[in-house]
Amino acid sequence: MAERILKGGEYLIAETAAEEIITPEDFTDEQKQIAETSEQFVTNEIIPHTEAIDHQEFDIVVQGMRKCGELGLLMTDAPEEYGGLDLDKVTGMLIAEKIALSGSFAVTFTAHTGIGMLPLIYYGTREQKEKYLEKLMTGEWVAAYCLTEPESGSDALSARATATLSPDGKHYLLNGTKQFITNAGFAELFTVFAKIDKEHFTAFLVERGYEGVSVGAEEKKLGIKGSSTCPVVLEDAKVPVENVLGEIGKGHKIAFNVLNEARFKLGAVVNGAAKGAFAVGVQYANERKQFGRTIGSFGAIQDKIADMTAELYASDSLIYRLAGLMDQRLSGIEKGTENYYELYQKGVEEYAAECAIAKVFCSDMLALVVDEVVQIHGGYGFVSEYPAERFYRDERINRIFEGTNEVNRLIIPGGILRKAMKGELPLQAEAMKAFEALMNPSFEEIDESLPFAREKTLLKNLKTLFLVVSGAAVQKYMDKLQNEQEILLALANMAIQIFALECAVLRAEKNFSRTSDKKKELFRAAVKTFAFTAAERVGTEARKCAFFVEEGDGLAMILSGARRFTKYDATGLLEARRTLARAALETERYIF
Ligand SMILES: Cc1cc2nc3c(=O)[nH]c(=O)nc-3n(C[C@H](O)[C@H](O)[C@H](O)COP(=O)(O)OP(=O)(O)OC[C@H]3O[C@@H](n4cnc5c(N)ncnc54)[C@H](O)[C@@H]3O)c2cc1C
Repeated sequence: MAERILKGGEYLIAETAAEEIITPEDFTDEQKQIAETSEQFVTNEIIPHTEAIDHQEFDIVVQGMRKCGELGLLMTDAPEEYGGLDLDKVTGMLIAEKIALSGSFAVTFTAHTGIGMLPLIYYGTREQKEKYLEKLMTGEWVAAYCLTEPESGSDALSARATATLSPDGKHYLLNGTKQFITNAGFAELFTVFAKIDKEHFTAFLVERGYEGVSVGAEEKKLGIKGSSTCPVVLEDAKVPVENVLGEIGKGHKIAFNVLNEARFKLGAVVNGAAKGAFAVGVQYANERKQFGRTIGSFGAIQDKIADMTAELYASDSLIYRLAGLMDQRLSGIEKGTENYYELYQKGVEEYAAECAIAKVFCSDMLALVVDEVVQIHGGYGFVSEYPAERFYRDERINRIFEGTNEVNRLIIPGGILRKAMKGELPLQAEAMKAFEALMNPSFEEIDESLPFAREKTLLKNLKTLFLVVSGAAVQKYMDKLQNEQEILLALANMAIQIFALECAVLRAEKNFSRTSDKKKELFRAAVKTFAFTAAERVGTEARKCAFFVEEGDGLAMILSGARRFTKYDATGLLEARRTLARAALETERYIF
């Protein structure tokens, strides 16, 4: 394992060697085997019941969860001393990806293993873990997470639910309504956030059977219809004092730290869903004939397949690079140390910006994929007899829950700039260098003999552009920048594309010398296709931001920099796109 571990946000100022990252080509046999077990489970046990699950036959879902328990899929994050597997993040992401093929069931599964179980695993006392963990690992009980309320969604800390200590000091009495709670229809254990004495935001472990707990009617939803989403009503709900989770008044830590991981895992889930939808799209393109030819033979359809492939390739590269990075950092913490999970949380929090990037990039990628898959199906994409329609409906929620994509975008520059202000990232010094490069253009010859030399130069230039634009924004607004959301969104969009492109390029570079000529060609084609799009996107956001923050000579200077720093020679782009499309049509699935 490499010595140097990249800090959160550092990718924007540092160069990473390809050998330092984890890629899907690095999966171990054990990881592949767990992935196969997960895929087989979904194919044999869940997919045949898709219709019934979508009609909310929740018995099948609950049975499915028990089978997941038998296969060990619910204990991946649980500590070994309680019978868990405590697997690495890469394996966790792989399982999430495979389970994603099950549509709504994946929502139940990920809510249970993520926001459902992680609060207990990370913050529970020995007694709490002994009482609940086994039930959750076996699937005997399903877990849910109750943060959102009718009046507090994104602004989660403004929750109104209250907790008051009973006169005998043995219970807290919880009052309030939690809204949109996944798994609520059949969950037995809820992590509920409420304010003690209307002030101290605190988490509680609440059993379904406690007096005063009731679950409202199922929401009628646009998609993921086979998942359960209900309000949870607390009316003097009697919760024993020993069921306070973590410290009183520190519930926000639990809420947000768990969400960091959930966001990242959502990236893997949507990655898996996109692979499933993609395969359906290319299969249809091979079957459907118009004008005497399969529609897949038309350039217009191949154009879509090329875009989907390149975005998926970038998303795939991003998820596993980030998982590997986290594993590297977390493996440095000795298991069994008393404050193990505190250090672990810090390790995850380090990558809060990257977790938000994963959530936004991958969910936007899935939106593009399902939209194109419907389009490839023409009218048949619009009717429920074909799976494209369900993929399309199921996708939409991913840009809303686990923090909306707007809120997640705001987290990205917010977190990175905060680190810079705390002196954890030398962003200011790097921004000065970037301004130097802007004012004094120098010609750097690209060594074309090295693979991906053009893309690596592009990446360096895009980072310089990000530093110039963010530097200009900081200079103008200083600490008031946090109120300028349009600017922050543009910076976030730049940071997202740069990270995705870096992951895409480094993955190809790492695997280039150890792969077949055919795969080399595919790597080249995917990187070229994605690099072209990413450069255009970064350029657009940089120009937009320049108009937001500058005028006169300063504006002209940044606009000319945006032109220079986004320059990318994509000679052979059409052939590259056709190469990707042809390969996908040949294999009828995602090709990497
Ligand atoms: C199917 C489903 C399942 C869910 N599961 C769970 C669950 O298990 N547990 C749970 O606790 N919650 C759950 N949620 C709730 C979900 O996390 C929230 O819906 C989400 O956080 C957004 O909150 P909101 O719906 O109140 O929207 P709002 O917060 O009202 O947002 C509305 C719009 O305003 C924007 N906005 C809000 N604040 C800002 C801001 N500061 N700056 C810029 N833009 C802003 C948002 O991006 C959005 O576009 C679920 C929701 C759904 C629909």
